[in-house]
Amino acid sequence: MKNGSQVNFVPYQRLLEKKAEEVRKSMSAQKAAQVVARLDVPSDEGDLSQQHHEEWIFLNRNTIDMKLLREIAGALQRMEQGTYGTCPECEEPISVKRLNAVPWARYCVTCQEAIAARIAQGETEEEFEEASK
Ligand SMILES: [Zn+2]
Repeated sequence: MKNGSQVNFVPYQRLLEKKAEEVRKSMSAQKAAQVVARLDVPSDEGDLSQQHHEEWIFLNRNTIDMKLLREIAGALQRMEQGTYGTCPECEEPISVKRLNAVPWARYCVTCQEAIAARIAQGETEEEFEEASK
């Protein structure tokens, strides 16, 4: 492992923990809203399809949040293992600028772009795609 830059990861750890907390809060808030919405029994077909649409949005949003939580957990784990901030593809340090923008970034910009291109071509799993903020 290359450790030349000696970046202090503590601020990133705080950032990641704060972000995870935010995502969890927003997820439980959405869940509560969903429960309230369910109390309104749909009166006709139109309402029913509207409800399905909202459920779809909810599930979709939830999937993104879950993915983000997983990435944050992964980043915190890499901090414990001492591999945080190093790209596993090229083993180069991930730039501070990138970590400031995406603290849970797993790969450097170059490798992330290469992976995104592979996903676009269907050559790799979406698993490796970066979650957005
Ligand atoms: Zn890389």
